[in-house]
Amino acid sequence: MASPDKQQTSRRNARNQGGNRRLERKNLWAPWRIGYVQGLSESGDCFICHNLANPEDDEKNLVLWRSSCCLVILNHFPYNNGHLLIAPARHIANLDQATDEELLEMTRLVRESQKALSLTIKPHGFNVGMNFGRCAGAGLPEHLHIHLVPRWDGDTNFMSVCSDTEVISQSLKELFELLKQVSKEHNLPSL
Ligand SMILES: [Zn+2]
Repeated sequence: MASPDKQQTSRRNARNQGGNRRLERKNLWAPWRIGYVQGLSESGDCFICHNLANPEDDEKNLVLWRSSCCLVILNHFPYNNGHLLIAPARHIANLDQATDEELLEMTRLVRESQKALSLTIKPHGFNVGMNFGRCAGAGLPEHLHIHLVPRWDGDTNFMSVCSDTEVISQSLKELFELLKQVSKEHNLPSL
């Protein structure tokens, strides 16, 4: 059996020989997220609870919808255009703390969000996921939320070449208005 050092070296070599490169090509590269990552260590506040408590700032905070026990927010630091966050109103960290009503409503809101995004920016696909714990990539592990990330064929290439912070923040405002308009026209979310 190889020593731990050798095992590590051979694993590294294996990654360099293709595994890692394949992953890099598939992952979205979102440099504007650095502001968010840097902000994490500076603020202990929960932005979801903050948004919830300040309905008069929904437009500024990009809160798209409020339903009976959840809210849907356009992510200020998106992995891709139209990246939405779906969260219960209650400040809970884990699914075993969520009620059946909250779980059902979050799932329905994923469906409604996909409808709204399909009507506006026509994604070719979606990633839907949750991160639990900072080691798993959770930016706000104290308040659970579902990520809904629209995807387009070839978007990994497009994002790394064409996007920067300014482009994204401008498109966020425009997209928010567009989603609001479509929500009104199509009576979304229709839970
Ligand atoms: Zn919270």
